[in-house]
Amino acid sequence: MIAEVIIDIAHSEVDKVFDYVALPDTKKGQRVLVPFGNRNIEGYVINLKDKSELENEKLKTIIKPLDNFIILTDELLKLSEYMQQKNHLKKVDTLRLFLPSGMRKGKVKELLKTVYVANLFKPKDELMLLVRKNAIQQINLIEFLENEKVYKSSDLIQKFGATAVNKLANLGILKKSNLKIYRKPQSNIKEDKKVILTDEQNFAIKEILCEPKINLLFGVTGSGKTEVYMHCIDSVVKSGKSAIMLVPEISLTPQILSVFKARFGDNVAILHSGLSVGERFDEWQRIRNGDAQIVIGARSAIFAPVTNLGLIIIDEEHDSSYKSESNPRFFTHNVAKFRGEYNKCPVVLGSATPSIDSFWRAKNKEYKLIELTKRANNKQMPQIQIIDMCSEISFGNTGMFSRQLLSDLKECIEHKNQAIIFVNRRGFSSYIICRECGYIAKCEDCDASLVYHKEESELKCHFCGKRYKALTKCPNCGSEYIRMGAVGTERVVEELKRIFPNVKILRMDVDNTRSKNAHSKILEEFSSNAPSVLVGTQIIAKGHDFPNVTLVGIVDADMSLHFSDFRSVERTFQLVTQVAGRAGRADKFGKVVLQTYCPKHYVYKYAANYDYKSFFEKEINLRETTKFPPFAKIVRILISSEDENLAKNIGSKIYLPICQLEEKNKSDFLFCRAMKSPVAKIQRKFRFQILMRFKQSVADMLTDEIYKIVQKNTNPKANIFIEDNPSNLS
Ligand code: ADP
Ligand code: ZN
Ligand code: ZN
Repeated sequence: MIAEVIIDIAHSEVDKVFDYVALPDTKKGQRVLVPFGNRNIEGYVINLKDKSELENEKLKTIIKPLDNFIILTDELLKLSEYMQQKNHLKKVDTLRLFLPSGMRKGKVKELLKTVYVANLFKPKDELMLLVRKNAIQQINLIEFLENEKVYKSSDLIQKFGATAVNKLANLGILKKSNLKIYRKPQSNIKEDKKVILTDEQNFAIKEILCEPKINLLFGVTGSGKTEVYMHCIDSVVKSGKSAIMLVPEISLTPQILSVFKARFGDNVAILHSGLSVGERFDEWQRIRNGDAQIVIGARSAIFAPVTNLGLIIIDEEHDSSYKSESNPRFFTHNVAKFRGEYNKCPVVLGSATPSIDSFWRAKNKEYKLIELTKRANNKQMPQIQIIDMCSEISFGNTGMFSRQLLSDLKECIEHKNQAIIFVNRRGFSSYIICRECGYIAKCEDCDASLVYHKEESELKCHFCGKRYKALTKCPNCGSEYIRMGAVGTERVVEELKRIFPNVKILRMDVDNTRSKNAHSKILEEFSSNAPSVLVGTQIIAKGHDFPNVTLVGIVDADMSLHFSDFRSVERTFQLVTQVAGRAGRADKFGKVVLQTYCPKHYVYKYAANYDYKSFFEKEINLRETTKFPPFAKIVRILISSEDENLAKNIGSKIYLPICQLEEKNKSDFLFCRAMKSPVAKIQRKFRFQILMRFKQSVADMLTDEIYKIVQKNTNPKANIFIEDNPSNLS
């Protein structure tokens, strides 16, 4: 037999299928070691066939299989082909998505433990004759053993000593064996709360399970979507199938995991970046072996090796983390649709604030729209009050808190309740500038201003992570008049501590939640103290259930509004709704104070009324008139290189045929220009871009052409990426 093998090297030159002579037990989907050039390399068998086009004498032979199981199921192999075509990815880049990290190059192995199995091949008194009469420990050990029972080697040695254990092993009374141990991620299991489903929930479950369609579950925050997911999963699992549920990485909180563990126990496997490599490998194995039928994880869990898939859920479907914006680029929803179709099973996209794109598809009947219009516990949505920060200034208040927010905070604290203050920026201030000469501290490697982090007394680049010493005076003119830019979480904490010196003020952002359990520690501290205030970024906006939070303050809601991206208004709506959803979830009434410099912006009017549908109508009309997605497609070709001229030259070389393409399709192109990127340098690489927008009807055809043009102009000294409706245009 001949095996078609893809070599595990990500290079366009070897992005093809190589023929090898198969071993007798070589199987399709196996990972194998093969000779390649003058070394041995890992590869993947994607097909077996009788004959090669090449002469057999010229073919090399597979050296050995690398695992004792098959990694790539037929479904995953088909998915790989689909992604190569749809996302223009290299073969090996798609295959690597299917493996748990650390598996390649054998960095992680199965954890095996030595055990002994008792083999009492004769009655105990006869066995005792085989050992010396004064070997008390050996006699005790024989006394202790029960036939065919498995004992941990360490336990036996501890009780009876290594000599006795070894002696009995030599006599064949103990048989050595290896037991596979699963490394399991820790989770504290809460009590499973049984609820009586509302009519809306029951209806939703029925609609989802009745046919293999893509469903958009549009349910206000607190409407009990999780309960709907769990019932659907339960039903699917009972019919012998598996389910995948995705949640954004930052809402993969201990809370949500413990809820699922409580209901489904060990049938749940968890995949996320907080696990150790070993834990992830073992969870992956439990999924692959069918020991766990339910997978919960972040984006990459969509590639989990489940067989017999019966349901896919993407919670918070609007979340930007579902789009992979670095290589390999893909959109999770498309992968979910592929797997749903392949397995003929339903896909659920759930959100309180669906993406404009998804809601548009639901309106056009591509998705089935299912609504949950009421909160499950009948609690009212918190009131959102919009505060005009410009008028605060005219009243002489130049602080970061409006008078309203301050008085509400005071009241909240007096009543021993809890408050959340949302700030969409970490660190102390966005930038620092010298008042005398205008010097702005910038990163040496990036075209970006540095962010002051007071706690560590450092300046950090949020593009590359590089750290610098904090400034006490201007390095340019020596002046000590240094001014801070817009506020970040640290500065808000400092200000709150000054105003409320006796109140517990906590902070939560990526800077202080990097370590494994930091997240839950902060949350525990917050929930066990009242009154208390939690200051945080987006990280606090999702998934948490805080029963005692009665007040939510949004310090500067406009921050996400001014990003140079067509989704910025949509994002702002989502963020406001989500943050607001943290207030008044249990028995207490909640309130939200939203501070803005653009109080008249339509996004706030609709968000304050929780009126997603009107917001959608307004936004979709705007997109249609201005010709933005979903009515058009934006494509950016990004060229980066340490050599500025090279980046520019490649850009010009690509731009020429692009202009010809535009000329040929004049009526379809809405925009086409070559320029420096807004952030012209990141990590010492200069960035040049060609930005295009064209009509949706011709998008696929033109995108294919663009890929062809780029492929002809690759250069080993430059990176060239093609981005499709990018959400980050920096
Ligand atoms: P969502 O994900 O839609 O924001 P959740 O699933 O988090 O909402 O549910 C909000 C709260 O309502 C949770 O505390 C949940 O336990 C509770 N809940 C869900 N369904 C019901 C129900 N049918 N009856 C009572 N409480 C419910
Ligand atoms: Zn200066
Ligand atoms: Zn930098």
